[in-house]
Amino acid sequence: MSERVIPLIDERQRKIGSHVPVVPAQLLSPDGLLADQRGRALHDLRISVTDRCNFRCTYCMPKEVFDKDYPYLAHGDLLNFEEITRLAKIYIEHGVEKIRLTGGEPLLRKHIESLIEMLASLKTRTGQALDLTLTTNGSLLRKKAKALKDAGLSRLTVSLDGLDDEIFRKMNDVDFPVTDVLDGIEATREAGFENIKVNMVVKKGCNDQEIIPMARYFKNTGVTLRFIEFMDVGASNGWNMSEVLPSADVIKKIHEVFPLTNIDPNYPGEVAKRWKYVDGSGEVGVISSVTQAFCKDCSRARLSTEGKMYLCLFATEGHDLKALLREGRTDLEISNAIAQVWSQRSDRYSELRGSPELANKAKVEMSYIGG
Ligand code: SAM
Ligand code: SF4
Ligand code: SF4
Repeated sequence: MSERVIPLIDERQRKIGSHVPVVPAQLLSPDGLLADQRGRALHDLRISVTDRCNFRCTYCMPKEVFDKDYPYLAHGDLLNFEEITRLAKIYIEHGVEKIRLTGGEPLLRKHIESLIEMLASLKTRTGQALDLTLTTNGSLLRKKAKALKDAGLSRLTVSLDGLDDEIFRKMNDVDFPVTDVLDGIEATREAGFENIKVNMVVKKGCNDQEIIPMARYFKNTGVTLRFIEFMDVGASNGWNMSEVLPSADVIKKIHEVFPLTNIDPNYPGEVAKRWKYVDGSGEVGVISSVTQAFCKDCSRARLSTEGKMYLCLFATEGHDLKALLREGRTDLEISNAIAQVWSQRSDRYSELRGSPELANKAKVEMSYIGG
């Protein structure tokens, strides 16, 4: 089958390509397991369940761009829960063991608990429970934490960029109070979640003074705090290297106050580098996409809100699986198409950042592709 060009989702994404993947006639991976052009397996799947959000974090959905006229996807363009679950099953057959729901703000998707229940019933290739997790801004956790737990969600990551209310409101840019997110984190604990992670994006000159207060607050709580370098995702966050605080500096700052020692990754390819407090009061992590690229072990595929497969957070092109679903393709055909796409993957944006071969390429917004 030849490749067809699909209409683009809106004017602002006009430069971003998308096509229906080729469905090969032959079965591509008889044992199901895949390797891309760099020998990387497919272990993780991130699913964006909505491109909408109730925050306007300046580094992700700046309100000047994501205003009331922004052309969000129509409901009928979103993958429905049956379609997501069907694709998840096919990905699992290819070796996926971990699924993260994200967005936009995933808790804004109506009846998200039903999707979690459907996904939680899936088993990995080896018959284990799926590692099913979700990243949220925490604003709706007080309301939803128990339902998420009851539905079978394994773990949770909450994003929180500081403890100072004024700084936090400036970062979320919708005047959302920090106390409500902290209460949301408390609600997840009350609901019985363990291994809670908190992600803080560090933007130099905006919230770096919050690093130590955040470390102090989450020490001794069992929550793992992770610091993320401000990244050049999408095309609208006005990214500038001068606003990136390298993770090495974050660790140095914390180490001066609360001594740290580094520890091994939990598993090969773990995105965060781990450190523990010498006094045994917990651990922190750093995600250094800008200063220490980790493409070498990147085993993540992404499924956008409207069902396109992306091979990198910084991708310029998606592979339209929804078209295959809605034209009545069989599981085997879709599985084969995914195998074909993954086996041709060579993405390593962070390793190439700044090089001429990436110049002028339009990237997909993070809220659409899923963070
Ligand atoms: N709305 C949810 C949230 O904020 O947790 C889930 C989606 S959000 C896109 C996923 C993660 O991406 C969040 O932890 C957020 O802080 C992070 N993120 C968004 N834009 C970023 C950027 N430019 N650089 C680094 N991290 C970013
Ligand atoms: Fe929304 Fe999350 Fe992006 Fe903030 S980081 S604007 S909460 S999607
Ligand atoms: Fe993976 Fe792309 Fe990030 Fe590299 S830049 S780690 S390939 S998502």
